[in-house]
Amino acid sequence: MLMVVDSPGAAGPRASRGGELMARQESGERAPAPGALGLLQGFVNTNNLNTGRDLLAGPGLLAGWATANGLLRRDVEVTEEDWLLAVALREGLRELLSANSGARVGLRSVQGFNDCARRVGLQTVAGRDGGLRLEPVREGGHQALGQLLSIAVMAQLDGTWARLKVCRQEHCRWAFYDRSKNRSAAWCTMAACGSRAKARAYRRRQRVLAAPG
Ligand SMILES: [Zn+2]
Repeated sequence: MLMVVDSPGAAGPRASRGGELMARQESGERAPAPGALGLLQGFVNTNNLNTGRDLLAGPGLLAGWATANGLLRRDVEVTEEDWLLAVALREGLRELLSANSGARVGLRSVQGFNDCARRVGLQTVAGRDGGLRLEPVREGGHQALGQLLSIAVMAQLDGTWARLKVCRQEHCRWAFYDRSKNRSAAWCTMAACGSRAKARAYRRRQRVLAAPG
């Protein structure tokens, strides 16, 4: 499986702080989610909120990413509508994953995600072995999104979904896989976001202590 990630040096002047973060995030400080769930994680992380860099900034880039990751045949056209749906689904998934990090997902986010999922469309398909699987209803660029939704459903069944989280730092929200024993990880990496959050909490405490009365 090929994971398409930000390429170093291509992010331009905005890369500075976010670029460092990117490098740490992808230097293996946290291993990606297992199996196909790693692909869904990669999909969410195609939008790097730290650098503002979006690897899927257009239908052509979405087509390239989906074919490179085995989600779409090369001869399938990705339309503007597919792309808009993909972008909405990606942020919808990020919202759902924030629940695994302890956040409450708002009703509007849930409705937005459900609307995306309905437009993507999945159906139950039986095989001759009696097994059931979920497959995209429609032909075209939507197929790739259907496969990602199917991966999400399967991950909920096998228990891996709950470990896929988004970083609690508001500017970051990077998707990471929590392998800790008690599922307590809150940040993409301690170096990048965890220490920053702790330093901020420390400063806040100092201010409260210093405040008169
Ligand atoms: Zn982070």
